[in-house]
Amino acid sequence: MESYNPYTDKVLRRFTPHSAAQVERMLAQADKTFQQWRRTTFAERAQVLHRAAALLRERQDELARLMALEMGKPVTDGRAEAQKCALTCDFYAEHAEHMLRDEPVQTEARRSYIAHQPLGAVLAVMPWNFPLWQVVRFAAPALMAGNVGLLKHASNVPQCALALEKIFRDAGLPQGGFRTLLLESKAVEPLIADDRVRAVTLTGSEGAGSQVAAAAGRYIKKTVLELGGSDAFVVLADADLGLAAKTAAQARMINAGQSCIAAKRFVVEKSVSAEFMDRMREHLQAYRAGDPLEELTQYGPLARPDLADDLAQQVQKSVAAGAKVVLQGGQPKAGSARFAPVMLANVKPGMPAYDEETFGPVASILVARDEQQAIRLANDSRFGLGAAVWTRDEERGQRVARELEAGAVFVNALVKSSPEMPFGGVKKSGYGRELSHLGIKEFVNQKSIWVA
Ligand code: NDP
Repeated sequence: MESYNPYTDKVLRRFTPHSAAQVERMLAQADKTFQQWRRTTFAERAQVLHRAAALLRERQDELARLMALEMGKPVTDGRAEAQKCALTCDFYAEHAEHMLRDEPVQTEARRSYIAHQPLGAVLAVMPWNFPLWQVVRFAAPALMAGNVGLLKHASNVPQCALALEKIFRDAGLPQGGFRTLLLESKAVEPLIADDRVRAVTLTGSEGAGSQVAAAAGRYIKKTVLELGGSDAFVVLADADLGLAAKTAAQARMINAGQSCIAAKRFVVEKSVSAEFMDRMREHLQAYRAGDPLEELTQYGPLARPDLADDLAQQVQKSVAAGAKVVLQGGQPKAGSARFAPVMLANVKPGMPAYDEETFGPVASILVARDEQQAIRLANDSRFGLGAAVWTRDEERGQRVARELEAGAVFVNALVKSSPEMPFGGVKKSGYGRELSHLGIKEFVNQKSIWVA
């Protein structure tokens, strides 16, 4: 396994995947630790999570540097990611007990209620785009619920994965409470088959999600899937165009466009489409590319050259099928991880820019006749993760929000995740929820207790 710098095109370090014997030891230890961790009090778990939060803040520079080196994230964004993880550890440390309190239910019993008890070892298969956040948003609630975590991180971010393991260990989590398994994806199914692994959560592509869920189905394991998205950013004619265009560029450029909830399809009412495109293009052009280790860099390279090659192909095929290039960017040459923003207009069904997720800075503009057509275009996607709608009429915004097929809709705002709100999708964006009281209950036994 290689830790590779996409900006310098240099291999940083090589790692040997864990052997079968090492994995067996980790599984045994996870199982043993679970028996002890599940009996700790919420206050004891909270102490560990608060310490993890403090360490995430203390080590934010080091963590940001690792992300910059391994997957090209600018250091300013990396620090913000570490801080968000810290906030989330603190949030679940404070709120898990309340979220998982017994819930009384009125029945014919003298007393009946739902208790929430941990399941055991939860396997997390995670992607490289937010190497800390994707993991912490699973780990903080899962650990507070009394579960233990096993992380199979993306193969290109082993150093980030090990740094996270160390944070939890240094925070006082018992050995085996959270382990990083350095494994290739083919080693995941045998793990899922193991009785000591009780559930699986995956964030990543549709293909990976489908294969992991199929394996989990074979062994009757609960799964949560957070897959891709092709979020629509709907701009109605009565929107604040200046703010909408600025936020649109920001929403597309998050993490160099490599975010499941980055806006990808911009659905704009015809009467304002030309002005919106001009303004958005100006904002996109103003983004500063550069070395992710530099403070002023706003976007670095994509995480791997093959991802940039795939994105270039999607653009090329879309243009060949009739899409119009409104902002010319892309790769300087094939095989390079660098990719400048591209804006495409006249994007139609049958083109990759319309049908597929574009995981990088490529904005597709779709022009709608009116609100109804805008809703129809926004919903004409396999995916249903996030969406945004822009209008000066708040009531109208909420009405449109209810019509959009997505796990989250933001009215006049950038789509983002936060520890308090559920996060997840519909359609091919996956199922189940992370975060909030819903997320923490995905990996617990919701036990009915009936006292006659
Ligand atoms: P993948 O979905 O392949 O990788 C995500 C995680 O799943 C990694 O840990 C990967 O391990 C693992 N994985 C992949 N295939 C399997 C499998 N068959 N069984 C078990 N685990 C598996 O993403 P890529 O890095 O290949 O990116 C490709 C595309 O996926 C992107 O262009 C984007 O469209 C989408 N994506 C979406 C993300 C999101 O946030 N929703 C995040 C990342 C990617 P390994 O690295 O070892 O292969």
